[in-house]
Amino acid sequence: MFKIRSLAKGDFLYHDNKRVEYSASPNRSGGHANGQPSILVMHYTAGSSARSSANWFANPAAKASAHITIGRDGEVIQSVPFDQRAWHAGKSSWTTSDGVKLSGLNSHSIGIELANAGACIATASGGWVNPLGVRVSSDDIVEARHKNGPVWFQSAGHVAEPGWEIYPAAQMRAAIDIATALVETYSLREIVGHDDISPSRKNDPGPAFDMAGFRGVVFGRSEDQADLYRVRPGTPDGLAIRTEPTKFSAKVQDQNLVPGTVVEFNESDGNWWFVTVLDANGNDQLDGWVYSKYLIEA
Ligand SMILES: [Zn+2]
Repeated sequence: MFKIRSLAKGDFLYHDNKRVEYSASPNRSGGHANGQPSILVMHYTAGSSARSSANWFANPAAKASAHITIGRDGEVIQSVPFDQRAWHAGKSSWTTSDGVKLSGLNSHSIGIELANAGACIATASGGWVNPLGVRVSSDDIVEARHKNGPVWFQSAGHVAEPGWEIYPAAQMRAAIDIATALVETYSLREIVGHDDISPSRKNDPGPAFDMAGFRGVVFGRSEDQADLYRVRPGTPDGLAIRTEPTKFSAKVQDQNLVPGTVVEFNESDGNWWFVTVLDANGNDQLDGWVYSKYLIEA
């Protein structure tokens, strides 16, 4: 299970309570615009392993980075803390689902690289090769048209239906788990491909990446995992909801939450939980801190 923790040096990824390998990249800038990322951008490495990508990102000459790189066997290396800007998107723009036009997506997003060769062409000997000379077995290729049109190969010109290296199950499992943790932690609104935000110059993650399925699983799961609790029956005088995680802080509202009130867990500070109170229709009513011993699972 993946989780994100905020340390003094930034926000880091943990797997089963152990921090994932961190290979610091100097190719980063300060925090995101609006103080928080809102979009997840998926990429492929164009043939590099997770290790060689992370090594390249650690080099100032690269002038590029991503927050996370996931290898084909599911290994994970972090290069930039999530609360800082990695340099993965370049010139890019995106109109959000609520109509806000963003440009320079590094300022608004978290970037995940997946080790994958990307677009390949058939070789005379029956295999496949990408423009950087990385060879891929026919077993690992799907032939497909890219939604942005034919792909340019120096050796072959425009190819309408090149081959694309598949994403193995172990890699996709890790990507789904990490994306779910990121969506939940930062309330990310959208998942896009580099080929969505820079369509004239980028093909990653390409047609071998099932973006619709990925979005469905990640957003579906993060909704399923909404942690709902209710105020324990018999709680004397109901449960006070406060502005800070201490019984000495002011109440958010004079009335205590009556037993049975449904709340959604957001974060904890010891036994104090920051929750959102939901009405009968599941709509948000107000936020505040409550003492969690008076909550039971809904
Ligand atoms: Zn990319």
